[in-house]
Amino acid sequence: MTFRTLDDADLAGKRALVRVDFNVPMHEGQVSDDTRLRAAVPTIEKLRAGGATVILLAHFDRPKGKRVPEMTLAPIAAALATVLGSPVAFAEDCVGPVAAAAVGALKPGDVLLLENVRFHAGEEKNDPDFAKALAANGDLYVNDAFSAAHRAHASTEGLAHLLPAYAGEQMRLELTALDKALGNPERPVMGIVGGSKVSTKLDLLRNLVTKLDKLAIGGGMANTFLYAQGHDVGSSYCEKDLAETAREIIRLAGQNNCKLFLPIDIVVAEKMAPGAAARVRGLGSVDEDERILDAGPESVERLCRAMANSKTLIWNGPLGVFEIPPFDKGTMTAAHCAAELAKEGKLVAVAGGGDTVAALNAAGCADDFTFVSTAGGAFLEWMEGKELPGVAALAS
Ligand code: ADP
Ligand code: MG
Repeated sequence: MTFRTLDDADLAGKRALVRVDFNVPMHEGQVSDDTRLRAAVPTIEKLRAGGATVILLAHFDRPKGKRVPEMTLAPIAAALATVLGSPVAFAEDCVGPVAAAAVGALKPGDVLLLENVRFHAGEEKNDPDFAKALAANGDLYVNDAFSAAHRAHASTEGLAHLLPAYAGEQMRLELTALDKALGNPERPVMGIVGGSKVSTKLDLLRNLVTKLDKLAIGGGMANTFLYAQGHDVGSSYCEKDLAETAREIIRLAGQNNCKLFLPIDIVVAEKMAPGAAARVRGLGSVDEDERILDAGPESVERLCRAMANSKTLIWNGPLGVFEIPPFDKGTMTAAHCAAELAKEGKLVAVAGGGDTVAALNAAGCADDFTFVSTAGGAFLEWMEGKELPGVAALAS
């Protein structure tokens, strides 16, 4: 898809309403991780450089349409000022006279953060009157919150229909990376899908087998596939009622010429505990009281070879219980392989998903990936092939 970016916008003297994702981790009233604040800087600086005033819209947590004092964005305005190295004004409401007065006081280059949009029920309902009230404070709309783009809310979707709408710099980066990974990838394109449950990733698997040349399945969900193929999985986490679904996905992969990689060896233990005695086993030799907790070394080596023979990799979900060593080994080894290939310019490597990001950070190789999406739910819906309303509304 094509979308308008800030390069297409006339910014001088304009009031830019910018939807950002400031749903940051907080600890004792303080921002404990400012990654999302830093992600908004390129858009803010580009608008300021163009002579616009910057009016930021964001949500925090789930106040469900009511003013919840603990969910105020006030501490975030202070943290953003630190990140920007310049003042950030704050208004205690995102619509109405309080917001209008704060916006009216701005000069070109000033930055204002408006209070939590979810304090109003109209936000999540995408209420047209609420969207109009938001739009009253802007001349143009910029969406820089890909991670909220799977929701059709007033500040993520409704506003785009009321004002000239543009993708922000972070949104542009994210959409470009995702397009390179799955929309328009250099082939062969390979996927790795892991994590705990098949049930949460059915749509994702069904979509991927129609788009990818190769798909590796790992983590807990691989157990369900192994079980579906008649292998004993002992006491492993396994969704036995999804065996037929797993077989359907295997058939669908075959019909679409997507080569599936299931584990060919596994790591088992009797307990899911740090340092538990881990044994490498071939398929079909798992004892009744053993659990499969990681991919085996041969499986991982085969994945690394498959990556080396691919041009593009899209990865969601760890290959094992990466939180508990030694069951992190498969995920760590595969992560290093992908990072190395990406660093050498041989592979476009894109990854996303809450636990996947944590695993890549633990491996210390997130920076070597071509792109790591922290968008969570929006990333997964995009991998499922769904249209994201917040992105669709920016189409030009
Ligand atoms: P993401 O957040 O990246 O989308 P998921 O939430 O789907 O990933 O999956 C991550 C979880 O899967 C981790 O908590 C990990 O411990 C778990 N997991 C991986 N392999 C196994 C396994 N063999 N058995 C049980 N849980 C597993
Ligand atoms: Mg998760």
